[in-house]
Amino acid sequence: MFSIGDSIFVTENSNGAANSGLIIGDKGVMMVDSTFFPSKAKRIAEFLSTITSKVLLYVVNTHYHLDHTLGNCAVDAPVVGNVLTKEYLENFDLESFKFSLEPMIQKELKNAKFVLPSVTFKNKITFDLGNKSVEIVHVGGHTPDSCIVYVWPDAVCFCGDLVFSKYHAEIETESDVGKWIQKLKKIREKPLKWIVPGHGPTGGIGDINDMITYLEKFKSLSSLLKLKRIEEVVDKFGEEPIFADRGFAMLFEESLMNYLKRRNKRGKHSDSYKA
Ligand SMILES: [Zn+2]
Repeated sequence: MFSIGDSIFVTENSNGAANSGLIIGDKGVMMVDSTFFPSKAKRIAEFLSTITSKVLLYVVNTHYHLDHTLGNCAVDAPVVGNVLTKEYLENFDLESFKFSLEPMIQKELKNAKFVLPSVTFKNKITFDLGNKSVEIVHVGGHTPDSCIVYVWPDAVCFCGDLVFSKYHAEIETESDVGKWIQKLKKIREKPLKWIVPGHGPTGGIGDINDMITYLEKFKSLSSLLKLKRIEEVVDKFGEEPIFADRGFAMLFEESLMNYLKRRNKRGKHSDSYKA
């Protein structure tokens, strides 16, 4: 795991899998996101026991997406999450989802089950870890339930999927790109030293700036789709510096399609999608 000082750790995933973090305070430890695989969450908890005898107090879920929550069942600590995160997980058909996966992964997830947040909040919740304060704030944007986690005085922000670094962003039909940009601009105003993205390597404020540029450009492309087919836009603009060299290349086209679906659902420009 990547260490930020000697008391905050973040997973290093070379494949762009969702990040998980450990915040070690005087009074105990908080884990941020539990990854997709319970076996991986277990390994992170085992790693924790090799570096400290402090107790894992809580697991925080930044949002309901399964690559951030499914590992909850392998960690022996109550889950903290937004009220909406709990609602989404309650209504998600996990068994049908498992059935749609490749047999190898199905096997791996055979015993995986949801552990819902038992400590919930609406706008904001703060935890005092003695020498650190952990502030979890509901922001929306990527998903309606998306939250970010500030750690003070370390000046760290776990941004969940509001930030994808070195990978394309996952923009869903439920994403609100305008709000997403607005919240990133708010985060940028804070005196932060470290930005932990939902996917990709840990960095600094530059990653927030890149994400804002990415989303603003993404938004502007959607107006082009009135004139061009989606494949043309992907071919032409996929090579631009802010989009090129990011992993999860297929997400770019998928995200554009999702963005259009959402816009059409809202009843605007319903004639614009020509693909
Ligand atoms: Zn997500």
